[in-house]
Amino acid sequence: MNTAAAQKPILDIRDITTSYHIRRSGAQKATTLVAVEDVTLSIKPGETVGLVGESGCGKSTLGRTIIRLLEPSAGMVSFAGQDITHFNHQEMRPLRQEMQIVFQDPYASLNPRFRVRQILYEPFRIHGISKAVASQKIPELLSLVQLPPDSLRRFPHEFSGGQRQRIAIARALALEPSFLVLDEPVSALDVSIQAQILNLLEDLQTELGLAYLFIAHDLSVVGQVSDRVAVMYLGRIVEEGPRDAVFNSPQHPYTIALLSAIPDISAAQGRQTRERTILVGDLPNPLDPPSGCRFRTRCWRGDQLCVEQDPPLAPVSDSLVACHYPGAENHWSARS
Ligand code: ADP
Repeated sequence: MNTAAAQKPILDIRDITTSYHIRRSGAQKATTLVAVEDVTLSIKPGETVGLVGESGCGKSTLGRTIIRLLEPSAGMVSFAGQDITHFNHQEMRPLRQEMQIVFQDPYASLNPRFRVRQILYEPFRIHGISKAVASQKIPELLSLVQLPPDSLRRFPHEFSGGQRQRIAIARALALEPSFLVLDEPVSALDVSIQAQILNLLEDLQTELGLAYLFIAHDLSVVGQVSDRVAVMYLGRIVEEGPRDAVFNSPQHPYTIALLSAIPDISAAQGRQTRERTILVGDLPNPLDPPSGCRFRTRCWRGDQLCVEQDPPLAPVSDSLVACHYPGAENHWSARS
């Protein structure tokens, strides 16, 4: 997708932490689950940043914090140069036109009792935009997502999964946003349909100059669409860099493990060490994260330093990496 090297970011988040207060069964007091911790990320106009990591690592929480469906407990969210970290509902209202979200399951996110015409009318109604303007815009939206005009009369259940996701995208585009959070937008779809939706998103980005935060647990999907990739593990970004740097020269062992799970890429890179880079175990419980480096309980490079010290994100080659022993796998094997 587009590169936007010289532009100022449309989205800038600094040291974001987002927590949930949960009550465990039988417990008197609420416990704090830190789902996202100290995350810094920026996205330029027209750029796609892919956010990848296992289920439960905090991707959705970060996406929702960015568009202020959740309020962070620390850090700053800035959108188009404006600090929106603590904006209330009223203050966020005009910005809701600028930033939208598309969810994984289009069926759950579309009202089954509404025809498509009404689904697409909702954003206009909520924002007090006249019916006349909406009536003119709605057929245009349908054509943007390449659905036939007679779709307006139909209900969501009359469409396939891919078509329903097109409707959800059309609704997200109704108010002409400049930034979309795409939260696992193709994960519920068959592979052939995934490609169609990814192509559509790419075309829309080119046509409308949109910026995307593209969230997925599947690194191969993220690789197809992203200019930059941020890899998340247990609430933190552990590696971030240009797509090609992350794919061709991954530095963090977690990124290497995610990449080695993509058969084509492992084969193309001639990786001989695949057995060593298969992830073992599950994501640790965020209520009880490991000391030091959070990845150390699943890492084959870890030592005492990793137990004791949490590695900060630091520049390595073209990327930022949070690892005491960063390096592409070949380089690391050669050293060990
Ligand atoms: P991902 O999108 O990567 O799957 P999430 O952001 O959904 O991750 O979840 C991150 C962590 O926060 C998980 O441990 C999850 O169980 C927890 N979590 C998510 N939503 C809530 C919630 N509404 N209340 C309490 N905990 C939550």
